Amino acid sequence: MIQITFTYRCVQCGSTDIVRNGHNRCGQAQYHCHACGAYRVLPPAPFQSAPLRTLKETVLRAYKERASLRGLARVFNVCRQRIARWIVEKVRHLPPLRQTLAPAQPDDVLELDEMWTFVGRKANKRWLWTVMCRRTRQILAFAIGDHTQKTCQRLWARVPDAYRRCHSYSDFWKAYQALPHTTHQCVGKETGQTAHMERWYNTLRQRVGRVVRKTLSFSKSEAFHNMVVKWFIAEYNLDHVGPTGPSLTN
Ligand SMILES: [Zn+2]
Repeated sequence: MIQITFTYRCVQCGSTDIVRNGHNRCGQAQYHCHACGAYRVLPPAPFQSAPLRTLKETVLRAYKERASLRGLARVFNVCRQRIARWIVEKVRHLPPLRQTLAPAQPDDVLELDEMWTFVGRKANKRWLWTVMCRRTRQILAFAIGDHTQKTCQRLWARVPDAYRRCHSYSDFWKAYQALPHTTHQCVGKETGQTAHMERWYNTLRQRVGRVVRKTLSFSKSEAFHNMVVKWFIAEYNLDHVGPTGPSLTN
């Protein structure tokens, strides 16, 4: 038999003279320290001696594997509101999307598509519009809004100039008809010209719980919804910068 004995210490003063002290309003186990008088949440054993940063990074990593806030709160014994604060902080420190992009090349091909997600209830649809560079697989721009030309235009305006001159493909949805006819072409799904963009939505749905169609971990807040999508896209781009690195001038 292998047995591991673990001694909890007070996070405030390091004393081992601590006793259980019920649960807080979020249902997390608490302790009371006899040495310094602190009342704190009891961190899960593996993270007891680790710095808070380690717990935070682990929780944020797990969140991007389709875990829900409530699920994470249960597993890591961290209050849901606190995890939400960590996410807000994380997204605030992300670079602007343009800075995550590799420089454009004249023969680059862009793929445009849109997918529906919802906030609060199924009827409250929020379309996610995206443009992908086929060569680097980076998401050049995204817009979240309704299914009309307005959101499509907003998306197009966010594409960096150098990429906007490239050839692009989308399906026949009427909102795309307003894009420049010289470089943009509407094609059927069967041509495979937007296949990479469509495939990326599967990746997104696989990783981000709140965009899965049949789920309970949907977004309750618009701002949070947009934030999580931005977070996923920025980090996805940084994983796909390629040999030339991100362009900071674009
Ligand atoms: Zn203490």
